[in-house]
Amino acid sequence: MAVALLVAAGSGERLGASRPKAFVVLAGRPMLEWSLAALRAAGIDDVVVALPPGERAPEGCLGVAGGVTRSASVRAALAAAPAARDGAVVVHDAARPLVEPELFARTIEALAEADAAIAAARVTDTIKLAGPDRRVTATLDRSTLWAIQTPQAFRRAVLEAALDVGDEVLAAATDDAWLVERAGGTVRVVESSPANLKVTTPHDLQIAELLLRDRC
Ligand code: C5P
Repeated sequence: MAVALLVAAGSGERLGASRPKAFVVLAGRPMLEWSLAALRAAGIDDVVVALPPGERAPEGCLGVAGGVTRSASVRAALAAAPAARDGAVVVHDAARPLVEPELFARTIEALAEADAAIAAARVTDTIKLAGPDRRVTATLDRSTLWAIQTPQAFRRAVLEAALDVGDEVLAAATDDAWLVERAGGTVRVVESSPANLKVTTPHDLQIAELLLRDRC
């Protein structure tokens, strides 16, 4: 079975809470516990958690200090991760507490045909490009656009090589799959639902609370 890296080291400034985002209580549990429950339900027992200063890893997980950027946190967690039997690593943001267990299995399965397989939802809004003056310069073809989420599954050796770059490259990465893309690896999308939302704002937290209350 794969090993999981649960990245939880962000401060969550945009949420405006008094604790780091992953530790804000959501429907009765710290936010990261929802993702952890989904990982366990998917049969993934080896979990390394990248932590913000002053927080401890949940029971049964290995905790490491997070980095200054998201991908630096992934790199720190990967360095501490035990080897998985199938050589797969699955990265998940603690900020996506609504993840369904089956999505972990589907991303890992899709590794049979790629170096990385990433959860993604079809884009339903029309997306346009605009310059600094807000003048629209293009309207993109929505049928080819995907909004990228986590989980993101990787062959371990590929992720290790992709993360072996300078801090300025890590800082530019808004997801780990981009690091694999720039290294020439193959990345496939695995269709997911917009319900696997990322909690960023107080509004997202309210929606997540309403949806998770039913699962208690
Ligand atoms: O800030 P954002 O919501 O995009 O962060 C995505 C995920 O990455 C969150 O779960 C957050 O805790 C994690 N993160 C991290 N280390 C950082 C920044 C973000 O583990 N330095």
